[in-house]
Amino acid sequence: MTLHANFRAGYVAIIGRPNVGKSTLLNKLVQQKISITSKKAQTTRFRINGILTDEQTQFVFVDTPGFQTHYTSGLNAAMNRVVTQSMREVNVILFVIEAMCLDQRDIAVLRILPANVPIILVVNKIDKLADKNQLLPFLSEVAQVVKFSDIIPVSAMYKIQLAELLDTIRDYLPVSEPLYDKDEITDRSERFLAGEFIREKLFRLVGDEIPYSTSVVIDQFKLENHLHKVYATILVDKPNQKAVIIGKKGEKLKQIASQARKDMELLFGGKVYLEVWVKVKSGWADSESVLRNLGYE
Ligand code: GDP
Ligand code: MG
Repeated sequence: MTLHANFRAGYVAIIGRPNVGKSTLLNKLVQQKISITSKKAQTTRFRINGILTDEQTQFVFVDTPGFQTHYTSGLNAAMNRVVTQSMREVNVILFVIEAMCLDQRDIAVLRILPANVPIILVVNKIDKLADKNQLLPFLSEVAQVVKFSDIIPVSAMYKIQLAELLDTIRDYLPVSEPLYDKDEITDRSERFLAGEFIREKLFRLVGDEIPYSTSVVIDQFKLENHLHKVYATILVDKPNQKAVIIGKKGEKLKQIASQARKDMELLFGGKVYLEVWVKVKSGWADSESVLRNLGYE
């Protein structure tokens, strides 16, 4: 890929109420199902959902932590701060609504968005409009409620106006080198996500009994004849934590690993062989194989 002289790159948040079509929009824009991480993973607070890189632009679509889940349950002050702070670091926000629907809940969210980040209103599902003439009055009405940087009607599902949307987003991204290396994306992301899946299951299934700082290290990640082989270690501080994670006869760890493996198989689109070990960080407790979870027979 030759870099365009005016190459631009930046972070784009996609927010909006459930069911307005955020996931569909992201999938159609990125056209690949991977999420990614890379050299910047440690420094960014965002969870990256997908990246689109073309000759001129790298669009990094991110999730803003805490936003989705708390959306409907009232927005308290602490929550507002988290949202506002994380949003402040993106270059542009896509605020997605469904055509003909902008209600009080949308407006409540709009109010807590940082004032200095451009917001593009994406009016989705225009394919559903029986009468296309409704759209213009709706758009001008909406424009009076909130001052958006731009308003773009689209249909994510039918890919209507997505090129226009990308062009518009591009205008708000700074001139920059790519933030993520195109060639490294797939591998690194899958490896990273493998660790995230294990961590997620660990906290879901063991939760309260282990500190949040407990880490998961992917020791090896390789693809052999369409089989993903993942070797991971859960690092804990104390032997009793190790015992809790392993569980009676290894049952707990088996559960963690098998649920994580299923997620990986969905994401990677193929069979996964996963081995998870638990080690106590302090060196004296020697490593021990606690599970060989054969995901592939
Ligand atoms: P999210 O909760 O905001 O992520 O919404 P989803 O992307 O999961 O979409 C919610 C529903 O709306 C799904 O059934 C989608 O198929 C549908 N949907 C999304 N975009 C469009 C669109 O442009 N047109 C129509 N007709 N349906 C859409
Ligand atoms: Mg979604």
